[in-house]
Amino acid sequence: MKQKDKLAVKFLITDFAKARKADSPSIGIICDQLLKTLVPFGMAWSDMAIRNLLSDMVRLLSKLELDKTLTGPAKLRSLDVKKAINGYLGGHSPSRSRYESVVCLGYKFQCSDNRYAGMKDDPEDMLTRCNNLKVAIRSAYGVAGRMDGGAGNTNPKMLKIFMAPEFFFRGKNGAYSHEVVHGREAQPDAKPLALTKVKGIMEVMRDEIDQDIYKDWLFVLGTAIAAAELTESQCQTCGAVGKIKFERDLVKGGGATKAVCVKDPSHVIKEVSLGAIVENVAFVKKEGCIHTISKELVSHIDYRGGKVKVGGTEMGVHKSPQPSGYDSATKVPTKFKDERMGGSIFTVDGVTIGLEVCLDHAATRDSSASGRLEHAANIQIQLIPSAGMEIEALRTVPGGIVFNVDGVTPHVAVVAGAMQAQQVIETTEGKRSFFEDNTGLYFAKPCIGHAGSGAVIGYGPYEIPGV
Ligand SMILES: [Zn+2]
Repeated sequence: MKQKDKLAVKFLITDFAKARKADSPSIGIICDQLLKTLVPFGMAWSDMAIRNLLSDMVRLLSKLELDKTLTGPAKLRSLDVKKAINGYLGGHSPSRSRYESVVCLGYKFQCSDNRYAGMKDDPEDMLTRCNNLKVAIRSAYGVAGRMDGGAGNTNPKMLKIFMAPEFFFRGKNGAYSHEVVHGREAQPDAKPLALTKVKGIMEVMRDEIDQDIYKDWLFVLGTAIAAAELTESQCQTCGAVGKIKFERDLVKGGGATKAVCVKDPSHVIKEVSLGAIVENVAFVKKEGCIHTISKELVSHIDYRGGKVKVGGTEMGVHKSPQPSGYDSATKVPTKFKDERMGGSIFTVDGVTIGLEVCLDHAATRDSSASGRLEHAANIQIQLIPSAGMEIEALRTVPGGIVFNVDGVTPHVAVVAGAMQAQQVIETTEGKRSFFEDNTGLYFAKPCIGHAGSGAVIGYGPYEIPGV
């Protein structure tokens, strides 16, 4: 979004909300919420963050339309403001949502939890897994076709969500390189040899999922694990506590810099390995829209012996202890607590979706008792690609859809139409969550054993609740 359009939105909302605030107590509440949305909106830079926040503005303005105390020219003005905001959102506006219902198609696949397996060559391993996933997607297309009374694939108002489990893309080294996961552009001027283009996972998968038949499909391609070695310049005399600064390297010349000890420039500096910095990333695609969500936490069961191989060398996975007692993948603090800011929340075609990768469903950096979407509002569908996770909490609006695909005790589970989680209990089959809807209490229904590993299991259709 252009800066001038952002300013126009800010002006529009401020002008309207301030003028209407005192009209009635109920209008006042909504106007305050509208003004509050402008705070993160002012800081938002990614297209997705802006889309999430504009969607929430449209939802508040729709709520206002239903308010009987809003009348006359004030009501007309609110319709105009909504129309203008909708203009920026296009087809992604919640008031123009393309979908009424959703089916959940889970790929029940036994992933390695921390047992690494795969082909000798990582790029080849990745391509093999892509082929495997393409077959699963075609099979899901068949399953969807038999749903909704055989109209699954022809009903344009029914969203189809395909999801594979966490760790789907990882080979025998425990992690791929970033080049295998994300690809590489051609570098004709590289020395000593020109580098050719390398396709990443999403690019390889697009051969299948870009087809017109998947127009109404949303794909979560499990997660992929990418690792790189993390190094730090340290003073050999002062060690890790010593401070380092970077100075222009007069010997090398040009723009080169060198690390120097702050205490004594004659001290010798060495590059020290801090282990592997690991990215566990979920790839999401809906037509032209691609979104990635990285898992924030690292579980102690995620990596075999806490180690992966980077460039053939085995090294410990770098983790950063957090107040919750869990470790995060990086020590870099999260920039925003608000997941709408380009984090685990995304809005496509008027539907707002939250995604928590495995442990992120159960904990955050700050809390061991609540997941990443704990404080989120307006989530209609909640997705959990996982490796050993049960559905424990509903973070959707009442009646929302929660969908988990677990690759360790391979199972596909959906809770839909429930009002809230009631309790989580231990049973002989492990943890089970109870939920409540208007018919009473029921279990989350995990589908274990009804199909083997490699099967696609479909649930639905379920009505997508409005917000
Ligand atoms: Zn030193």
